[in-house]
Amino acid sequence: MGKTKNRVDALAVLTHHVRRNKERIIARLSKWVEWSPSGCLLWRGTIKRDGYGCVNFRMPPNKHIQIRVHILFWVLANNRNVRKGFELDHTCQTPTCVLPHHLNEVTEQVNKSMVHERRRLNGY
Ligand SMILES: [Zn+2]
Repeated sequence: MGKTKNRVDALAVLTHHVRRNKERIIARLSKWVEWSPSGCLLWRGTIKRDGYGCVNFRMPPNKHIQIRVHILFWVLANNRNVRKGFELDHTCQTPTCVLPHHLNEVTEQVNKSMVHERRRLNGY
């Protein structure tokens, strides 16, 4: 059982929890977002060193997990988990953006090659 398996399981439990407590979660999260002039919905809470926003989540009975907030917004909007082997790519290239319409479910491989391509085009 590797790290990836644990992550997937945690996400499955989270998705279940999120679907059952949708309104309460949205009410809590909506205090921490702000529209940007470019049309992104930016996270104004905690931002990790990797550039992504995160929230601490308490799930019954007493489990605490930390989750990337853009994943949480995507799950809320789509009512399901991110498929295994897939990641969420920011089409707006703004890691703190949590707008589900700016998130694309792509395979891990595609995501990596797109990041590489953008770095090349941006010259770093
Ligand atoms: Zn965006």
